[in-house]
Amino acid sequence: MIFFLILASLVFIDYARAADLNNSFQNPPKYKWAGCENLGKCKLDGFAKPTLLILSFDGFAKEYLERKIVKSLELIAECGVRADTVYPSFPSKTFPNHYTMVTGLYPESHGITDNNVFDPKISPDLLAMRKSEAEKYYEGEAIWSAYKRLTGRPAHCLFWVGCYFNNTGYKPDISPDYNQELPLQERINTLISWLKLPAEDRPGLITAYLHQPDAAGHKQKDIDEALEDVNRYIDALMENLYDEGLLECMNLVIVSDHGMQVLNKTIEVEDYVDMKGLVLSKGVVARIHLNGTDKTIDEVTDEIRCKVDGIKVNTVKDIPVRKHYSKSTRVGDLIIEGKAGTTFYKSATDGGDHGNDYYNENMHTVMFARGPSFRKNVKAPPFQNVQYMNLWLSLLGLEGAVKNNGTIGFFDSILKNPPIRENNWNSMEECPTFGSADVLPCNERPSNVWKKLSTHLNSCPSIRNLPLYSTDHCFQSNCDTVLMVHKKEDSRRAVIETLSRSSSSKKSRSSDGNFSYINTKYSSECPIFKGNQTFFTAGFEEINKLASAQYEFPERFLKNIFLPLSIKTEEYLNRFGTLFVISGLSADSNLDGISDIQVSENPTHFYRIIITCTGSWLSKNPPLCKKYDEMKVLAFVFPILDGKSTMDCMVSKVVALRKTKRKLQSSDEVLLDYTSTIEDVERMAGIQFQIGALSHQQNVWLRRNITTSLW
Ligand SMILES: [Zn+2]
Repeated sequence: MIFFLILASLVFIDYARAADLNNSFQNPPKYKWAGCENLGKCKLDGFAKPTLLILSFDGFAKEYLERKIVKSLELIAECGVRADTVYPSFPSKTFPNHYTMVTGLYPESHGITDNNVFDPKISPDLLAMRKSEAEKYYEGEAIWSAYKRLTGRPAHCLFWVGCYFNNTGYKPDISPDYNQELPLQERINTLISWLKLPAEDRPGLITAYLHQPDAAGHKQKDIDEALEDVNRYIDALMENLYDEGLLECMNLVIVSDHGMQVLNKTIEVEDYVDMKGLVLSKGVVARIHLNGTDKTIDEVTDEIRCKVDGIKVNTVKDIPVRKHYSKSTRVGDLIIEGKAGTTFYKSATDGGDHGNDYYNENMHTVMFARGPSFRKNVKAPPFQNVQYMNLWLSLLGLEGAVKNNGTIGFFDSILKNPPIRENNWNSMEECPTFGSADVLPCNERPSNVWKKLSTHLNSCPSIRNLPLYSTDHCFQSNCDTVLMVHKKEDSRRAVIETLSRSSSSKKSRSSDGNFSYINTKYSSECPIFKGNQTFFTAGFEEINKLASAQYEFPERFLKNIFLPLSIKTEEYLNRFGTLFVISGLSADSNLDGISDIQVSENPTHFYRIIITCTGSWLSKNPPLCKKYDEMKVLAFVFPILDGKSTMDCMVSKVVALRKTKRKLQSSDEVLLDYTSTIEDVERMAGIQFQIGALSHQQNVWLRRNITTSLW
C-alpha cells in the first residue's frame, strides 16, 4: 500500500512537468539524446549497478524496421546492440511469449501455453490468461522474482504479463493495474519517477509493456501511425532519461513478442469435428482438448486430419520437438495449424493475427539494447526468445541462478565484459576392445570384399577429439565411421560419419539392407536381427553398413521420413562434396524433450545432424571449417511412429503428384518441419556436442542454430 502511495504522489508531483512534456510529445522527435560520446559515463550517485529497463512493444514485426519510421531504434543500435532476428516461441501469442521472455522457459514449461488455457485441474472452463483468476496457471520463476529473492532489491513493473501474480512469493513491489488508456507521457513519467527514487527504494529492474503496434497490426490499419507513436514514445523516454542524467546509468533493452500476419482464410474447426465432449481454443493455432468424450485422440484427429488441404493436425506424439509443445497437458490433444494467413477463428479476414510457427518470417521480431554493459554498434545473431532470461540474469549479476531453456553465454558477444569461458571438454571413452581390428562377416559376400574392408580397418588413424560426449556411451572406431553405443543393454546408439562425394560414387545400392559386419576389435558376435532392419547410417559405402547401426523402423517412418531424408542427405553430399553426419536413436517416452533415465528397449525418436563447410575444411572429424562463418549445420529430430500422423497427408499428396516438382517440395516440407537445434538433439539423446577447436561462443551459437529453410 505504501508503495502505491509513493507512486501516486510521485506521479502527482510530476504533473506540472508532465504538462509541458506532453506538449513536446506532439512535436516531431528531436533525438536530442542521440550519440555515443558519453556512453556508460554515469554521473549520478548510487548507480554502481546499472538499472535494467526491459521495454516491450507488442507485435513489433521485424518487417516494420524496413518502413524506416522508428528512427529511435536505429539511433539506439548505433551506440548499442541490434538483433538480426528474434524468433518467438510456439505459439507466437502475446501471453506465452511475454512470460517466456521473463522466465526463459518454453510455454510448455511455464504453463501459459496460449492466451487462453484449459486446465480442468484448475478450472472447468477455457480461461483467458489476462484475467486475475489466472494466477494458478503461472509457473516457473520470472526475472523480477529471482531478482528480489536473490538480491532483496526492489523490482517494479508497468504492465507485463505475469506481474500481477505471486506464484513464487516474490512479485514486483509496484505493479499498477493494467490501463491501456494510460497516455504515453504518463507512462514515461512513471518510469522516470521510479528511476529517481532514493537509491534504497529505486528498482534495479523495471519491466514495461506497450500494446502498440500490435493493436494497429490486428486491424491492419494505421500501422505507420502506430509506429510513429512508438518512435515518439522512445524518443521522449530517451530525452527524459537524458535530461535527468539517467541515460548512461542504465541498461535499456527493447524487445517484442511476435510479428504480424495478414489473414486471408478462415477455417471452422466445428465444420469438421463434432465438438461434443471437447474443448476448443480458437486462433491462428487451434487446439482441442478431449474433455468427457468416449472418443480417442486418434478418432477425433481423423475427423479433420487430411480433410483440409494445407493444414497440419498434430498430437503431442508427432508435433516437432523444436516447438517444445508436448510436455504439458495444457497444450491440448490436437494442435491444428494452417498455412500463413489461415485462422481457425470466425473473424473478419481483413485483419492481421499471429500465433504461427516461427518459420513464418512475418512472426519474426526485434531486439535493441543500449547501456554501460553493452558493446557499441554490434549485432546479435538470430535467436529464440527463451535466451532472454540468461541475459537479464547476467546483466543483474545473477548468472546461472535460475535454470531455464536458454543457453548461458549466448549473448557474450554483445556484452562489454563477458566472463571468460572455457569449453567444458570431456573425451568419450573407447568401448572395451577384444583384440585387433578385423572383419567378421554377418552376411554372405565375396571374400575380396572382406579383405578390402579388413585392410581398410587396420589402416585407420586413431580417433581423437570426437565432437560428441556422453557418460552413458562409449565409441567404437571404424575409420571414417564411428559407432557410439550405450554401455547398458539399451537401444540408444549413434553413428558418426564423414562422407565424401568421391566415396559415394563407389556405393553399391544392391547391398542395401543385406550387408553388415562386425569389427572384431569390439565384438565377436553378429547381432541377431529380428525382421526387416534398415541401416540408419547416412553413407552408402560398405564401411558404413555396421551391424549395430540397424533398426527395424515402422513402414510409415521409412516412407514418410527415412527415404526422403536419405535422398536429401545424398543431394547435400553431391552439392557440398563433404559432409559430417551424426545419425542416432534416442528415447524420450514422456515427451518432455529429455532423454529417458531408464533403460530403453525401443527408441522413440531418430535424429540426424549434418555439418558442412561452404569453403575449405580444416578437419573432417571433428568437423572444422577454415572460417567459422563457412560452417553450416542442420539438425533433425523425427518421432518413430507406427500410427497415422499429419505426415501421411503430405505423403498422399506426394503420391498424387508423383514425378512433378511438388513431390520433392512435399517431402521437404516434412523434413523442414522436423528440423531442430543441436541442443534439442543433445537433450533428447543424452549426449553433449562440442568442437574443442571452436570458442565457447561459437559452440553455443552452433548448438542453438535455428533452421528456417533447408539448404
Ligand atoms: Zn503480442
